[in-house]
Amino acid sequence: MNWIRALMLAVLLAVVVQTASPLPARVDDTPPAVAAKPAPAVVDDKGFDSLGGDRIRAHIVKLTSDEFEGRGAGTEGGMLARDYMERAFRSLGLKEAGTEGFRQPFRTKGRGRSKATDLDLCNVVGILEGSDDELKKQYVVIGAHYDHLGRRNGTIYPGADDNASGSGTLIEVARAFTLGERPKRSLLFIAFDGEEIGLLGSRHFVKSPTVKDEALVAMLNMDMVSRGPDGDLWLSGVSESSAMKAAVEAAAPLAELKLHFEHEREWRQSSDHGPFADAGIPFLYFGVPDHEDYHKPGDTADKVNETLLLRASRVVYLTARAIGNAASAPEFGE
Ligand SMILES: [Zn+2]
Repeated sequence: MNWIRALMLAVLLAVVVQTASPLPARVDDTPPAVAAKPAPAVVDDKGFDSLGGDRIRAHIVKLTSDEFEGRGAGTEGGMLARDYMERAFRSLGLKEAGTEGFRQPFRTKGRGRSKATDLDLCNVVGILEGSDDELKKQYVVIGAHYDHLGRRNGTIYPGADDNASGSGTLIEVARAFTLGERPKRSLLFIAFDGEEIGLLGSRHFVKSPTVKDEALVAMLNMDMVSRGPDGDLWLSGVSESSAMKAAVEAAAPLAELKLHFEHEREWRQSSDHGPFADAGIPFLYFGVPDHEDYHKPGDTADKVNETLLLRASRVVYLTARAIGNAASAPEFGE
């Protein structure tokens, strides 16, 4: 083989190989196309942006520490939790809306285990005034119970999910509203006592509200909002008010949450929204189904899901804001 034939053969071979092999995927330097992905939803609001799962978890860690002894209603630990909520409301600059400053103390007979005993319990109530001169006379209630089971047979029940999670979220949602654009209606933040022994704090508040009862236009309740997957939250109340349902359904994608309605009826009386529902006040309850640590000593702060906490706080914030700004108050019983 002479060199010319060899060269020609080499060239031919190169062409054949080149033709037979697939073309190089890309010869220019334009960046590769990325599969279309929806941009994360943006809410242009300082308050919304300030919400953080880590901040809520810090409250949970504190409220579940041993000094609070499980926050039993009417116990020393319960009173420490009351003080914690009161200090938080005060430091945020909320307006005192109890009967004694932020406090709404009441004496009651406990149910269940504490049946025969008179108990001194106390809700903690604060207002963030609305921005509209007329609509600020109406209130959107945002609530969570701060009590838990206390100590039983020497064992502390810390109640991280139930309901340090709702209590911490309540504080952080209130804080966010002090930073963001203020809704037209006023917001009434209530930390309830005595939920675990018969919804006693919420029953007392509905019976003896510290603002005019006709001024209560809606109630959002958080109880157990920190366990389970990042993006799932369960609701009750959507079937009884189309306006409330529309508000929370518009908020859910912005909070990156999938809403579940299968406990809608079953959970109507499951927590502090119950007395409000019975009084004909449109309500939404936010929570997760009972889990392996429900009402067990294992309901501890290390098991809470910060992402879920963040998303729960976001959905409550946006829903309260929408109801707070709506042209008319939500209807009930649709
Ligand atoms: Zn609870």
